[in-house]
Amino acid sequence: MLVVGAGPAGADLARQLAAYGVDVLLVERLPDLRRAAFSSAALPLDALDRFGLPASVVAHRWSGWELLGPGEARRRWQGGRPQGVVLDFGALREWLVGEAQRWGARVLLGHRALACHQDADGVHTVLRRGDGRRLEVHSDWVIDATGQERSLLGEPPAAGPGAETLVGGVGLEWLVEVPQTCWERWSDRLAFCMGSDWVAQGYGWVFPMRAPRLKLGVCRLLDPGRDQPPLGGVLERLIERLLEPAERQAMVVVDRHGGLIRSSIHRREPHRRGRLVGLGDAVSTANLLGGEGIRHALTSSRVLAPLLLEELQDQGTMGRFLDRYPRELRRALGWRWSLSGRLARRTWLGLQGAAADRRLGSLLTSLEQEKASALSDLLFGYRFERYGLRALPYLLGLR
Ligand SMILES: Cc1cc2nc3c(=O)[nH]c(=O)nc-3n(C[C@H](O)[C@H](O)[C@H](O)COP(=O)(O)OP(=O)(O)OC[C@H]3O[C@@H](n4cnc5c(N)ncnc54)[C@H](O)[C@@H]3O)c2cc1C
Repeated sequence: MLVVGAGPAGADLARQLAAYGVDVLLVERLPDLRRAAFSSAALPLDALDRFGLPASVVAHRWSGWELLGPGEARRRWQGGRPQGVVLDFGALREWLVGEAQRWGARVLLGHRALACHQDADGVHTVLRRGDGRRLEVHSDWVIDATGQERSLLGEPPAAGPGAETLVGGVGLEWLVEVPQTCWERWSDRLAFCMGSDWVAQGYGWVFPMRAPRLKLGVCRLLDPGRDQPPLGGVLERLIERLLEPAERQAMVVVDRHGGLIRSSIHRREPHRRGRLVGLGDAVSTANLLGGEGIRHALTSSRVLAPLLLEELQDQGTMGRFLDRYPRELRRALGWRWSLSGRLARRTWLGLQGAAADRRLGSLLTSLEQEKASALSDLLFGYRFERYGLRALPYLLGLR
């Protein structure tokens, strides 16, 4: 079994299959898993348990929410107990890959998969090493876990069965070190900046990492119909508004990273082409509402692993078990996942101008009486129905 991409999805699948004795080769183009740690990696607390993630991958815990904006409005919901964590994304990848190796998977870092072709024998995949040399790997199955790039599976078809359009967002984040007092001010919550004067068609954030580090970022949905200013300037303005002049002067930027997040809204695209199977963001598991995809990528590996194990045991009609994969993954992600994708498109693409800010402001005002845990249910559990008829027209795009 060849797994391409050692993000959360691919590395987790490799560790599960290797644990069941499958001969797994995991290939990753990054030479160092700590590099290009592009994800802000905020998760709700229950995801740690559900996916068995250890304390060593956790950078910090948070117990509340702050929503800044539209304009100068600030709303805060603080819980008595931790609600979630911010992971060290590089450490997460390293731990998952280490576990896969401990179960017997072979790992090739610094190798990029260029293409694959299938014949009666299986799949032939061409890899390029860092020094430019090429090698070919032959396997029964190939898993494309290359994230939103879908390096092997390619883009969804534009027409016909499984046609889908990808909705994309782009994020930019700085990992910074700040004075201890500044870190303490932001250390207990996830803070989001919302409203078109903060980030038009998107949002900004401050997430706590290990003292005295913070992640400061901005993200917005791509709108081909509108000129969008470079994100670097948007992030700098956000930092100017959030940090005191002395704090900005003392701030050290440890890392600058970012990336794309892309998903289809309905997830109807093909999940497999013969013996090539997509996993994680490569089959649109990332959710655009909160720019969140780690636990959904892990969900996809939990759904795919048992189906692949059955497939490997069966050796009968090729793909008999894998035919169930799209349906089972859709069920595991849940109906709220799709609804939140629609809401994301509506909320972020429409967040431009005073009328949109007013609409957002009144939605946030209606949440003021809620507890921090209710905000977590809404933003991580996508439990919109709790807000009943008040929220429904918004969700369906009627407001
Ligand atoms: C700016 C930003 C902030 C985010 N913040 C959060 C957050 O707070 N919480 C959250 O849950 N999610 C967040 N996400 C989304 C989350 O990081 C992704 O949904 C998740 O990482 C998807 O996991 P994956 O394994 O499917 O893909 P990825 O993590 O993208 O992993 C794919 C891997 O494949 C490798 N690869 C790609 N092409 C090839 C190739 N041809 N050959 C070999 N290797 C290849 C890549 O190097 C990469 O390591 C964020 C994303 C971005 C861009």
